Amino acid sequence: MKNLLIQCLFCGLLAIGLWTTTLLLLVNLELEDTLEKELEGYNRSPRAHVYQQARHSDNIINDKVDFSDPELIQGLKQYGLNVIISRSLGIQRQVPDSRGKICQRKYYPVHLPTASVIICFYNEEFNTLLRTVSSVMNLSPHHLLEEIILVDDMSEYDDLKNKLDYHLEIFRGKIKIVRTKKREGLIRSRMIGASRASGDILVFLDSHCEVNRVWLEPLLHAIARDHKMVVCPIIDVIDELTLDYIAAPVVRGAFDWSLNFRWDNVFSYELDGPEGPSKPVRSPAMSGGIFAINRHYFNELGQYDKNMDFWGGENVELSLRIWMCGGQLFIIPCSRVGHISKAPSPDRPLNQSALSRNLLRVAHVWLDEYKENFFLQRPSLIYVSCGNISERVELRKRLGCKSFQWYLDNIFPELEPFNTKGKGMKSFLSGQGENVP
Ligand code: UDP
Ligand code: MN
Repeated sequence: MKNLLIQCLFCGLLAIGLWTTTLLLLVNLELEDTLEKELEGYNRSPRAHVYQQARHSDNIINDKVDFSDPELIQGLKQYGLNVIISRSLGIQRQVPDSRGKICQRKYYPVHLPTASVIICFYNEEFNTLLRTVSSVMNLSPHHLLEEIILVDDMSEYDDLKNKLDYHLEIFRGKIKIVRTKKREGLIRSRMIGASRASGDILVFLDSHCEVNRVWLEPLLHAIARDHKMVVCPIIDVIDELTLDYIAAPVVRGAFDWSLNFRWDNVFSYELDGPEGPSKPVRSPAMSGGIFAINRHYFNELGQYDKNMDFWGGENVELSLRIWMCGGQLFIIPCSRVGHISKAPSPDRPLNQSALSRNLLRVAHVWLDEYKENFFLQRPSLIYVSCGNISERVELRKRLGCKSFQWYLDNIFPELEPFNTKGKGMKSFLSGQGENVP
């Protein structure tokens, strides 16, 4: 009887052991499968091929990035960047001086207009946000930095509440933090930040930037000479996987008929001459996140279109408004700011319908008879409503802005219209009044 009992117990234990091993194997396989799928999704991102090439060439992705680490994958999904490296870098670091030789030798007047730096954030990784703030604090002359205004666009993560306030205490006096009561999107959040500012110049930054040496003075100097001058630094690349800081070439902002922003090469004649690649570059458009503008001029010019939601389109709208309504937009190569272009992730989806609606508003307000080129690229938007645009049309009239034809002729002749004759859309679109959408 006793033997039978022992045999039963032994068999039972064996069965449990076998089940547990099988279960563990299955869980492991499942985990590997999930990681592979995540990675597959990541590799489909537009920049993936750059990394594949880099992996085989100059080792940008080096031993620092281990794709089998679930923490890395989770961080990429949640924040769009390598959180393991970000945490190990902490809240401040030094980045290499990416300025050209001529820029390094330049001097700027001590007395310049003051700056309010506005940083909006939504669910940003804690260390990344603090590196943005500390780089501004460390590399801006204190007499020129009026304040840093952080606008929390209703972030959901706990560490962006009390813990953030606690860490900002060390920068006491220079920092204001504003928290929106509902998710506003970056466009209205920037307007909220601007309304609280008191410096002469507004400098907008994303919440995942690191500014470089003498970044502020060239921007302030250019605006001090002409208050209708809007300026952008060169946006250096902070690799989202390695967080390495990589100097970017001198480029200018452009867009296509879909109103998608892109970078274009600078004409070689613009880089020649004694000032070489340190000379300001005339830019048809800005990428959006990082620029400086005189505070009164920003208000005079009509700030942003407050009926644009979440993200996108506002950069093209502001660029057109600047050029067509009497201002200028330049890239200042001696000012450099690093920016992380985040990895796309289904956890941080792009609100495509908000973007389309924003772009539609741009087309209806600014493109005049050329909007048919936009609809040829985005035919699905022809019958979509973009809300009431009468206020923005009124603003355009009040500011006495020039036509889109003038912009094409004088600022962006490289944007060639399609030959739309005989496509039947022209007659349809000519019937679209200002308030039709
Ligand atoms: N942002 C925000 N609210 C939003 C979306 C974005 O405050 O609803 C912030 C975001 O945290 C970032 C800035 O706006 O600091 C620009 O967004 P993002 O970096 O996604 O734009 P991109 O660099 O791709 O143009
Ligand atoms: Mn960004």
